[in-house]
Amino acid sequence: MKKIFTWFLITFLCVNLGYTARALDNSTSAYESSDTYETTMKQDFLCLIMAYPEYITGIEHKGDGTVYLVMRSGKKILYDDKKAKSFEQKLENPDLQDMMEQKYPLEPISKLMDKNCDPGRFRVYGILKEVYGESQKQIESKLKNVNLVYRSFQFNGSNKAAECLDSAIKEIILVAQKKQNVSSCLFPCSGTFNYRLISGTNRLSPHSFGIAIDLARDKRDYWKWASQEEGQKRLASYPKEIVEAFEKNNFVWGGKWSHFDILHFEYRPEIILKARYFGNKKSNLSTWYDGVPSEEIEGKDYIKKIDDALR
Ligand SMILES: [Zn+2]
Repeated sequence: MKKIFTWFLITFLCVNLGYTARALDNSTSAYESSDTYETTMKQDFLCLIMAYPEYITGIEHKGDGTVYLVMRSGKKILYDDKKAKSFEQKLENPDLQDMMEQKYPLEPISKLMDKNCDPGRFRVYGILKEVYGESQKQIESKLKNVNLVYRSFQFNGSNKAAECLDSAIKEIILVAQKKQNVSSCLFPCSGTFNYRLISGTNRLSPHSFGIAIDLARDKRDYWKWASQEEGQKRLASYPKEIVEAFEKNNFVWGGKWSHFDILHFEYRPEIILKARYFGNKKSNLSTWYDGVPSEEIEGKDYIKKIDDALR
């Protein structure tokens, strides 16, 4: 009995000392650890709100602890279903947390990505449908023409997608005039809008929403067509100028997926913003949004909205 009491006393003291130490920690630096679940969740929400400013109205924290992104239509999208999922299950049915989880590298890469590292390949269709159209007809009504020298291509006019494609293409064309390698990877463009399923799946391709472009085709471009060695060779020779111009305009590159799709670029501002602002984790954050340039959030109520909802 005495032994049990001593054990209890020691455990009680340890737990309390731990709490006290943590409380003291919090008073000195609230975000000493930059990768806690709460910090990451707030950063994810900030990137989503900044990526789709006209389509997200807020965040709702329910009594049962679940957190939702609230869309302009009133539709609510769950942040984290808290289920343990395999890689395939995440691809099949990702929540917002799954979609934002993998780090997209903004620096150039010379080797294929590690196994199952596909940042930007997880898509929450609730967001895509709200922003770019619920049905084929609705999506088609939003398409705009973007000029690619010899012909124009259709891209979604919502959320600046077509505008950003136009800006990336203009920049690449200037380089293509001087560099043959850039020109031959750009032309002939293989296509943009195409309402179809991803081959071998029941999921709509991002091309269905008019937010993806395939540039000039090479048989080593796609993980299902080519061996790792072939993909690796193509990746290493792919012009960095093309990738940089797209990333600057908020597109992810399928070359940075272990399931590589080297000719594919997809407009995914939430993934690029997260990489840009929070890609290099600092060990000492002064605020959870440390990393976002102040001019990007000045005069906006993003931070307050998130802090109020998740306090
Ligand atoms: Zn594609």
